[in-house]
Amino acid sequence: MLLTREFTFEAAHHLTKLPGGPEPVHGHTWRLHVTLEGPVQKDGMVYDFVKLGKVVRTRVLKKLDHADLNRVVPNPSAERVALWAWKQLKALPGLAEIRVWECEGCSVTYRGEPEKERV
Ligand SMILES: [Zn+2]
Repeated sequence: MLLTREFTFEAAHHLTKLPGGPEPVHGHTWRLHVTLEGPVQKDGMVYDFVKLGKVVRTRVLKKLDHADLNRVVPNPSAERVALWAWKQLKALPGLAEIRVWECEGCSVTYRGEPEKERV
């Protein structure tokens, strides 16, 4: 079974490697979906939503919420934010998917595939 919890955070960023030069600094209400995959345990849950919330708040949101993402993730595209979040959360049992929404209708999904970063 897949279990997903959604989070939001407010953060500024700007891309630094665009052909026309760096973007102006701007902000978004970002959305983060963290998905775990596993069997339903004896307690009736795949994983405790409350426990998942604590881990994500500690390892990810405390560093990103109301932050300049460029100070945390170089050239912080949604793709690179997803890769960074995966690294922070990879100890979670059954981590299956990280989805990052930069704005309404625009998201990236990372499932832990080998990723060769070009930037
Ligand atoms: Zn943006």
